[in-house]
Order: sequence, then structure tokens, then C-alpha cells
Amino acid sequence: MNRFLSVMQVADALKIVRKMAIRVPTETVDLVDAFGRVLARDICSDVDIPGFDRSTVDGYAVRAADTTGAGESIPSMLTSIGSIPMGATPEITIRPGTCMYIPTGGFLPGGADAVVMIEYCEQMGDQILVNRPVAKGENSISRGEDFEAGKVSVQEGTRINSRTAGVLAACGFSKVPVAHIPRIGIISTGNELVPIDTLPSGGKIRDVNTYLCAGFVDEHGGLPVRFGIIEDEASALLNALRSAISSCDAILISGGSSKGERDMCADTIASLGKVLVHGIALSPGKPTIIGIAEETPIIGLPGHPASAYIVLLTIVRELLAAMTGADYKRSIFARLKSPVSSAQGREDYIRGSLNGEYITPVLGRSGLTNTLLHSDGVIRIPANIEGYEAGELVEVIQW
Ligand code: AMP
Ligand code: MG
Repeated sequence: MNRFLSVMQVADALKIVRKMAIRVPTETVDLVDAFGRVLARDICSDVDIPGFDRSTVDGYAVRAADTTGAGESIPSMLTSIGSIPMGATPEITIRPGTCMYIPTGGFLPGGADAVVMIEYCEQMGDQILVNRPVAKGENSISRGEDFEAGKVSVQEGTRINSRTAGVLAACGFSKVPVAHIPRIGIISTGNELVPIDTLPSGGKIRDVNTYLCAGFVDEHGGLPVRFGIIEDEASALLNALRSAISSCDAILISGGSSKGERDMCADTIASLGKVLVHGIALSPGKPTIIGIAEETPIIGLPGHPASAYIVLLTIVRELLAAMTGADYKRSIFARLKSPVSSAQGREDYIRGSLNGEYITPVLGRSGLTNTLLHSDGVIRIPANIEGYEAGELVEVIQW
């Protein structure tokens, strides 16, 4: 048997992932229950926001032309004709030489085209001395300036967070269309694995990947369904996989994803469906499997948690995005503190810690997990690049 993986480029593997992913159906939920969910269509407001020209400060609504040339020594003198009540439409029009008190958020009356902050006004009887000029539109926002009626205010694919929820509320959406939460089966394989509430004896280790994968799925809007630890034994994996296929929208299996004697992940997937990819030009993460059985995507991740995590970030995130329509891109650019090298033809991910505009590569020996904690994200080195010099701007995917 050939024990070498014939690797596929990341970009090609991602094309396969997107093609095999089935979009989950849409459902409507109350806005208060929608946090973390993925918006299933573009949202337009039914009204202009704001619905009227609005002051952004406490002050006096004026005609800007009336304040031209105003200064501390020669203030403009305007006649106050009253005060605008909050939450009501003013009946009065501001004529040249007059002004009205307006609170923050108040409705700018007809004739007025700017607001002078209260700090720059002095009251003398019914006269207001304005000692600073304002330009047209100053200290006010105009009708529809925030969001225009009928135009997209929140895009499909947005993960709903507190800020999105605020805008959806302003647009009048007490119920929102969201993608169903995909159920993601999680299987850990390995004779060396013990449950995390067990003290590992000689040669055993605790099962990290169930929790690493479950956390990642949860953070990306999926529902993790745990199938526990499966021994390196084909029939046991076959049973677990069958049960996961019947109850999940996609499946993650960690461990046994290479071509060693004990690696049965690929053969087991093949016995139920098809292995589409076995080996990706990705480091860490080369021994990765992409397969499908009964229309259920199955990703085989390498056992080492630090490698598995890169496959979660690159491959599984794309799968979840294709299933829910979510946009998960979180790349930033940072300046490299010290040089990094990479093999040509392979996409490399190097953990790094951010400090201001700089990213310092965290170079730990392969096999260690602590760098997952002591880093802020990974530096992505594309396949056609052999490395970067110190000082270069590099793409960083933040954790
Ligand atoms: P494998 O991909 O099965 O060859 O495993 C590669 C390495 O990852 C081995 O050292 C395994 O012990 C380790 N490993 C596999 N699965 C897990 C897991 N669930 N939690 C922690 N380490 C694991
Ligand atoms: Mg193993």
C-alpha cells in the first residue's frame, strides 16, 4: 500500500468543500433569540433612519447663514422663538434672525439647516448671542442619512451580535430570518485517548479534540454533537460514523487521518461514501481528509490539536460558511517582527502574538499545544511564497 499522501492545494480543496456543502434551511426567530445566528437574507429598513432631520447636540437650531462671521467679540444676535419638544414635530419655521432651543435628537424645524452647540451661545432675555459660526448641516443628521428606507442595512450572512441587533431593531425587525443551526457530529479516534475526567495512565492522554472541535463549532454558530472517543478499530468507527450520518449535517473525525497502519479514517469513509481529498498542501494539517457519505460532508482532521485547529480554521470554517451563508473572514494585516520561511507550494500557518502593529512568530516545537494559548492568531503564508522578511506586512487570522 502507498503510504504517501498525494496532496491537493488548499484553494482546490476549498472548492470541493463549497461544492459538497448543502445550505441549511431558513427559519424565523425572535430578535431576542437571534444572537449568534446567521442572517439568512438582506435586511432593509421600512422607514428612513432617522425619519426626520435631527440635532446631534443640545443647542440652538439656526439658519447657518445667520452665523457667518460670528465670533466672541462680535457675536451674531438671534431672537429665540421657543423650544422644540422632544419626540414631536415642530410647527414653527425658523426665519432669518431667529433660532429655537433644540435638544439632542430633536426634530430640526423648517428653515433651520444647522445647530449651534449650547456651549457657544449666551442668553440675554429673548436674544441668543452666538459666538461661533456653523456650516450648513453642522451638528445635525439628515433624514435617511443613517439608513435609507428600502436599501440594504444589514447584509445576509452577518452573524447577529449586539451591534447588528441594535440596527435590526431600528429597522423594525422583531423577528428575523436566520439559517438553521447546523448539527456537527464530532468523533475523536485513538487507542491512547481517555475521557477528560479520567487520570491518564501510562501512554494515555486526555481527549482534547472533542472539546477543541466542539468549541470551534459553537463559536461559528453550529451545534456540536459529541460521539465521544472511538478506538482505532474499523467496526467501531463505522458504527459511530453511521450514527453521526443519520443525525448530523456534517461530521468531524479527528485522528487516524493519515495513511499509517492504524489510520482507518479514510477507508471507513470510503466504505460508506467517497473520499474526495486525502492530503492537503497545508502546514500544519497535511493529513486531512475531505469525504462525503449520504450527502453528509465528513472532514478527517489530524490528531494533533495544534494541527487540527489549523484545519478547523481553514477547511471547517469554510464548510460552516458554505452551509449557513455566514461570512467569517477575520484577517488583519500586521508587520512581521522576525522573518519566517515556508516551503514553496504549501500554505503555511505560523502562530504569532500581536503587539501593536507587529506580529511576532511563536515558534514552538511541533507536538506542543501551549502555543494555541500563547498566541493571538496565525500568520498565513500562501503557497506561492517561500517566506517573509522582517518588516513585511503579512495576513494574520486572529483567533
Ligand atoms: P493521529 O492523527 O491519530 O496519528 O494522532 C496524531 C497525534 O495527535 C498523536 O500524538 C495523538 O495522540 C494525538 N491526538 C489524536 N487525537 C487526539 C485528541 N483527541 N486529543 C489530543 N491528542 C490527540
Ligand atoms: Mg491516532
